[in-house]
Amino acid sequence: VPQRPPGARAEADFTEACTRCDDCIRACPQAILVRGRGGFPSVDFTLGGCTFCGACAAACTTGAFALPATAWQLRATIGPGCVETKGVACRLCQDPCEANAIRFRPAPGGRYEPAITPACTGCGTCVALCPAAAITINTPCSQTEHAA
Ligand code: SF4
Ligand code: SF4
Ligand code: SF4
Repeated sequence: VPQRPPGARAEADFTEACTRCDDCIRACPQAILVRGRGGFPSVDFTLGGCTFCGACAAACTTGAFALPATAWQLRATIGPGCVETKGVACRLCQDPCEANAIRFRPAPGGRYEPAITPACTGCGTCVALCPAAAITINTPCSQTEHAA
């Protein structure tokens, strides 16, 4: 399922209500909303992170949004592509994370193991900053049911 803007109704209700007018896409000050499959708005984290400003929901006149802008269950995951795990200094993701949710734990051989703390808001700011494209934004398994 594509990632809808924050506050979107559950997928079936969203795609029924959304008229694909692009109002939310134009309203996003971060310019991270794109026309996804079928023309429905999707978040593209390779373009930047969400500030949960709610401008997308406020611009929508169709009732496709119903929840507070913060109501999403997404969290970041750092995969094995992270260069710190290979002993290469990087950490470009760490400081820009406003939630201060990215940690690096020393590992043998001058390497570091990255970890995302529960403080992560799933904003996605870190995704585009990673030169190794090692970060993904997902719904944690335990939260996929009833996520909306
Ligand atoms: S909440 Fe704001 S930053 Fe996030 S997708 Fe909507 S308009 Fe864009
Ligand atoms: S930006 Fe990417 S490669 Fe660099 S430390 Fe963060 S996760 Fe690792
Ligand atoms: S998704 Fe946002 S809050 Fe989570 S680690 Fe990345 S920058 Fe930090």
